[in-house]
Amino acid sequence: MSETQNLENAHTSGVYAKRDLVIVRGEGATLYDDQGRAYIDCVGGQGAANLGHAHPTIIAALAEQSQNLISCPEMFYNPQRAALQKKLISLAPTGMNRVFLTNSGTESVEAAFKFARFSTKRRKIIATMRGFHGRSMGALSATWNKTYREPFLPLVPDFEHLPYNKLDRLEASLDEETAALILEVVQGEGGVHPGTSEYLQGAQQLCRKHGALLIIDEVQTGFGRTGKLFALEHHGLQPDLVTLAKSMAGGFPAGAVLIGERVGELPPGIHGSTFGGNPLAAAAALAALEIQEKEQLPQRAAELGEYFLDELKKMESPLIRDIRGLGLMIGIEIKQKVVPYLQALTERGVLALPAGMTVIRLLPPLVIKREQINQVVVALKEVLE
Ligand SMILES: *Cc1c(COP(=O)(O)O)cnc(C)c1O
Repeated sequence: MSETQNLENAHTSGVYAKRDLVIVRGEGATLYDDQGRAYIDCVGGQGAANLGHAHPTIIAALAEQSQNLISCPEMFYNPQRAALQKKLISLAPTGMNRVFLTNSGTESVEAAFKFARFSTKRRKIIATMRGFHGRSMGALSATWNKTYREPFLPLVPDFEHLPYNKLDRLEASLDEETAALILEVVQGEGGVHPGTSEYLQGAQQLCRKHGALLIIDEVQTGFGRTGKLFALEHHGLQPDLVTLAKSMAGGFPAGAVLIGERVGELPPGIHGSTFGGNPLAAAAALAALEIQEKEQLPQRAAELGEYFLDELKKMESPLIRDIRGLGLMIGIEIKQKVVPYLQALTERGVLALPAGMTVIRLLPPLVIKREQINQVVVALKEVLE
């Protein structure tokens, strides 16, 4: 055990299952440990590192803005925040014209629920089985995994979970008392399950029919991950609220809720955040969006993701149950618990994530090189075949 490990072990809250690695530096899709050993990063900051590590444009934006102004609550106007709001709206589905800025995914989801209940004057919120929306009490009420939820009961009332990709079940439950339906376009944490167009578009129609609001949670799928800037573009969705975070500011903490026309007016004082919309995060997010465009990261994720999936599907192993994904969001479902396999991958210089007990999840930075993908495929073959 190194000094760092001893210190963290002595003082950590304990809520994280730790891996036996001290990460000290990153560049592109590569991470380095304290021994100087390199790893191909398919954890991608759990979705926060779509732009890769140490991107020079993000470094420059943070350095420059930090010399001018780091904190500035939203009671004042600020040019970085104004530019970010304008940029986000220009990229959002048509009809979305307001933004609430946050610092994390769970805060974005929390705000979306509050806006939905406030706007509709209704209480019921429908979420999905296997869905993940965060850990604060409201977002947790929409999250499915019982291990996350049960120690904290009672949660917020009037939440309901329905099976994902099952339109008939939604039709039976979504009614005039429903404030909102929250959906991921691809369920991430729940095992990388893509939604079908039929389901997602049908869900949107049902919301319209009953005056409920559709919240699309793009915290993990957003910012190029699935091969489009936002995954909702794959299905032509026009939700009422979109939640964002993770890679929004190139790895710096930032989040947002995009707000559509069907959400009523939100008067001063109804919600707020001290750090939300701070100029440092806004400058980083603006730089991150500039990089997305300049480096065509969504297109890159689409092309490399297709290549990656094709290569993975060539694997022949009785261990593998299913391989699925969209863009560079990939899940390999196996017939055993994944933890020993993740360990074996680490020994071969590849870092990957679990999604549930039996899915290996790959979320590499979108700047990953084709040659690095080939190396990951070789490591996965060694471990799984
Ligand atoms: C990670 C995630 C969240 C929560 O984000 P935090 O920043 O960890 O609070 C919410 N929704 C989805 C879909 C996520 O993947």
